[in-house]
Amino acid sequence: MERLIAQVQGYDIDLMTFDDAVNYVTDNISNKQGMHIITINPEMIELANKNKCFKEILKEADLVVPDGVGITIALKLKNIEQEQIPGIDLAVELIKNCAITGDKIALIGAKEKILQKAAENIEKEFIKLNICYKHNGYFTTEKEKEIINNLTEKSPSLVLVALGAPKQEIFINKCRETLPYTVFIGVGGAFDVWAGEVERAPEIYRNLGLEWLYRTIKQPERFKRIYKTLPIFLFKAIIEAIRNKCLKGNK
Ligand code: UDP
Repeated sequence: MERLIAQVQGYDIDLMTFDDAVNYVTDNISNKQGMHIITINPEMIELANKNKCFKEILKEADLVVPDGVGITIALKLKNIEQEQIPGIDLAVELIKNCAITGDKIALIGAKEKILQKAAENIEKEFIKLNICYKHNGYFTTEKEKEIINNLTEKSPSLVLVALGAPKQEIFINKCRETLPYTVFIGVGGAFDVWAGEVERAPEIYRNLGLEWLYRTIKQPERFKRIYKTLPIFLFKAIIEAIRNKCLKGNK
């Protein structure tokens, strides 16, 4: 499939519907076409602007879908309509399809108890699911090598990595050399949700693009992250949109 891409502040964002994203990745899993999926939000863009290694990883990703509403707003300011593709929802669909096809999955991340509970709950939900490997997200550099070796040996079709950004993307980047046929996706706090530890925002918040607000109310410590990045990101998005309009006007 040819990628249809738009740029937000110099970063590629794939333009597609949620269903197309699910189908595209599911096809890649079936065809053993390894890939790194990034579910991007404004915080990640601000982080990448300060972290060269993370920036490179974002630029080299095989699929970048807008997880955060800030990204879809930035696109809208450029007159590009793109639905939000929450990483957690995309991940659930991929897991569901792996349970149907018998493709093996692996889970890396979160605290041990959360990881075990999340695995138990998704196994209950998708009965035929084959979780071939899992490890919590608190490990040393030495242990990291062992985890990558174990993953390589188990060779799962899909690996869900829940370490938060940029840790999960950096970890995925290290795995790809020995696991070229595996699809990787960073899923942030998804295991906490699947374990029942953190509540997902009610549908009304999600439909209004206000999941971030709900999460900030429930976990006030997240405010520190958002207030430092979101206003700067939105300010840059407005400037970018104005500059675009001026450039078009001059043509
Ligand atoms: N985490 C981890 N190892 C670390 C740091 C974080 O496994 O060294 C886990 C943490 O326990 C949580 C997830 O990564 O389950 C990050 O969640 P967060 O809500 O920060 O991610 P977001 O959804 O905002 O990207």
